[in-house]
Amino acid sequence: MSNRAEYSQQLLEAWQGGLRAEPRLPFEQWAESHIRNADGTPFVFRPYQITPAADLLNPRIASVALRMYSGAGKTYLFAVAYAFAIEQLKLKIGKMFPAESLSADWFFKKLMPILNESPIVSALPMIKDNALFKAWENGAEITGVGANSAGRIRTLEVDVADADEIDAITSEATDEGDKLAAFLRRTRGRKRQHHWLASYPSIKGGSKIDAAFDQTDGCVWFFDCPKCNEAQAWHPKHIVWPAGQSHLAQVECPSCAATFGDLERKESCEQTGHFRNRDGERVEPGDLPDEKYGGRRGYHLNCMAHVGDHADKFPDYLVEVAASSDAANASENPKKARRVLINTLWAESYEEEYETKADPEGLLADREDYDPADQLPEEVTRLWGGADVNGKFIAIIVIGTGPSGIWGINYTEIQGRWDSPKTWVALTKFLRRRWPHPSGAMLKMRKFFIDSRFQKNTVQTWTRANQSKGVMAVMGSPQIGAPALDKIRVDAATGAKRMTLGVSELKDQIYDLLDPEVETPTSVHFTNAYEDGVEMFGPEFFDGLLAEERDTKRARDGRVVSHFIHPEGAPRNEPLDCLAYAIAAFKSDKMTEERAASEVERLAGGGDKDKPKPRPQPPVTGMGRQAGGWL
Ligand SMILES: [Zn+2]
Repeated sequence: MSNRAEYSQQLLEAWQGGLRAEPRLPFEQWAESHIRNADGTPFVFRPYQITPAADLLNPRIASVALRMYSGAGKTYLFAVAYAFAIEQLKLKIGKMFPAESLSADWFFKKLMPILNESPIVSALPMIKDNALFKAWENGAEITGVGANSAGRIRTLEVDVADADEIDAITSEATDEGDKLAAFLRRTRGRKRQHHWLASYPSIKGGSKIDAAFDQTDGCVWFFDCPKCNEAQAWHPKHIVWPAGQSHLAQVECPSCAATFGDLERKESCEQTGHFRNRDGERVEPGDLPDEKYGGRRGYHLNCMAHVGDHADKFPDYLVEVAASSDAANASENPKKARRVLINTLWAESYEEEYETKADPEGLLADREDYDPADQLPEEVTRLWGGADVNGKFIAIIVIGTGPSGIWGINYTEIQGRWDSPKTWVALTKFLRRRWPHPSGAMLKMRKFFIDSRFQKNTVQTWTRANQSKGVMAVMGSPQIGAPALDKIRVDAATGAKRMTLGVSELKDQIYDLLDPEVETPTSVHFTNAYEDGVEMFGPEFFDGLLAEERDTKRARDGRVVSHFIHPEGAPRNEPLDCLAYAIAAFKSDKMTEERAASEVERLAGGGDKDKPKPRPQPPVTGMGRQAGGWL
């Protein structure tokens, strides 16, 4: 079914034509007879791997830039080239990742298992086998470096400079120039000079792989429409399915509008697939980039070219892609999930959306007319608390959650110094507070998360004593891209349970929830009610809630994540911190909405033996809810 024999022939010709110093065996013949997959089966090139493979070690091609989707088999393509460069060409190779630890990981988990499965390489005597340096008796070497280790890069001397995940290379103010350029210069003076650049793309305008690709002849993968036979550069946007029915995913041809399934897509990809450069010319294995591109070859490949396996739980690959798109839209951070798909499946950088932010006046004007102290909104089934400790007060928010939304229930500040026992007595008292549900049930906070970064020992002494009431000490993670919730740990010094939170991730979700421009599955409501003569959710609250700015950053593993900054002179940010902790409390709970609803029913039925007397309520009059309150 595959055109394997044909590929082999093409590659053989390409190698014989392109190489001055002819290796003992042609690359393709060598690769398919000597390279083994990690499971021991023979390696077979995928159709779109042939032309790039022919270029990687072609001395007449100055650089190869690969912008490929996740699943393209980039690791194998490179592993085969490494094996050939070591065994046949005896080259010195430098492999750079954004960080040194990633290089060591790649050798250990990806490259060496493939080389070790391949007898012709594993039989070669090695003279050094360190985490970041491998040397063979025949003179071949691989050195792993991190873009962050400028000193090690400066002393390198290599024939092949292979830079991976280049979009995740970060630059700091202290850097001396461009790290990528410094690495590529390490082939200077060598007889052979190969530059390989690869990455998923990141943000439009800031992507290094985009910049590299733009300087090349820009080859894109085409295959014929199985219906009208017109060759297309297919895009994942051509996958169509009825809403909610990703299992019916098909490809729709932009030329003839006919649809076809995954089997036809794969067949056409195998049989008619080919690269075309940015001038529209077909590029065959061994063809050189036009002179105007300075010997620079570039490949762009998205997931429409996929001919490998698909995840077992899906009937085919198109369904898998459609389902991941549906899952992204339904996820708790759809914007972030969609970015990941654009980067990893489309192999495209995304246009950084102008990150809008809700405006405090708008949120203030949209407040609703409910008074939680009187009666909670009917849909609320559980209550959560979040608190932030300061030198002179503790800020607390209470929120309610139900099947479709989040409600602001209370925002208050307990005045008092952190080192005064009275402050903590007042907080313990607040913890006992209950709110009446329309069903008759009295609801208390199910979990209460309090920041223990400031005055850790004092805060955790209190949280430890109140753990049975759902209290948990929390701390923000300093790491960029940290997950919203980490595991619960016991603090070695205080013995209190504590949890580390990815506060930026939580705040990112909160800013989306608050922003009317962003579609989210959950709605947020705030009350205009007063307590003790004070508007709980007044102008100051909303200024504080939106006091921070969000910025996009790249985490060390290459993911693009939001990062929050509290600018100097901005309003105090306790409302945002408190809400982040309360949302974390909610997220950490394992109870389902159904269980929560039946629990409310049970409490309403008088099942709660220690039900306290309702808080005495002031008489409610028509005037009672006007500004100024009833006091
Ligand atoms: Zn068509």
